[in-house]
Amino acid sequence: MSALSLRDLNKSFGGNAVLNGVSLDVEAGEFIALVGPSGCGKSTLLRILAGLDHADSGEIFVAGKDMSAVAAADRNIAMVFQSYALYPHLTAGQNIAVPLAMKRLSRTQRLPLVGSALPGQKEIRAGISRDVREMATVLKIDHLLDRKPGQMSGGQRQRVALARAMVRRPSIFLMDEPLSNLDANLRVHARGEIVELHRRAGVPTLYVTHDQAEALSMADRVAVMIGGSLLQLAAPEAIYNDPAHIEVARFVGQPR
Ligand code: ADP
Ligand code: MG
Repeated sequence: MSALSLRDLNKSFGGNAVLNGVSLDVEAGEFIALVGPSGCGKSTLLRILAGLDHADSGEIFVAGKDMSAVAAADRNIAMVFQSYALYPHLTAGQNIAVPLAMKRLSRTQRLPLVGSALPGQKEIRAGISRDVREMATVLKIDHLLDRKPGQMSGGQRQRVALARAMVRRPSIFLMDEPLSNLDANLRVHARGEIVELHRRAGVPTLYVTHDQAEALSMADRVAVMIGGSLLQLAAPEAIYNDPAHIEVARFVGQPR
């Protein structure tokens, strides 16, 4: 059974077909890079998987379970965006704690996120705090936990966003161009860190990028999407040495 299975997903916006029968399997522990030109439907696909939007037709299975009736919050699919979307008024530690608080505390128990606990909440809060510190250590951001996003660099914010996504141990990890706001040096460094994190955590990952060097250096397999259709899914070297389609050849043949 695949960790994630997409079956014939279709999506249109106002009569424009954006996804045309996309089918894809992500296996346990696998890192797949999804590449393709701007506007080909990559972000739309990820948003549908995360439950932030709905397909017009098709099916999504996570470890064999049909997600069609499962709300976004219950899918246990984590997503990191290009913009990171951290809460500006919360510290890094509080940002990382949010998904755990949502999962472990009831609505009325969630506030304040950190600090004076309601009666009976001490142990849950201590557990949350311990998990936040553990994840911070993995991502080497222990020293940033009391800072707000405005007091951090782009690279630091990116790590906090990764920590927040990973802390609830998702069954699938989706990343939508998570490095595109970083400068070139940081980007190369961050690639290695994400791959390392993937090796340690083993969470099946679908990683969207328009940067072919990223796809080539990070992924077990590369999926090429052109105009809403998945044209090839293969090991990086197979995509580059033996493109299955003229449009794939055109896309990977572009100067990098
Ligand atoms: P990519 O991430 O590959 O650059 P997107 O998935 O963002 O592509 O967009 C695919 C196409 O769908 C684009 O033509 C975009 O304009 C269109 N699109 C995306 N979201 C919406 C929306 N909410 N409403 C209308 N059109 C949209
Ligand atoms: Mg996009």
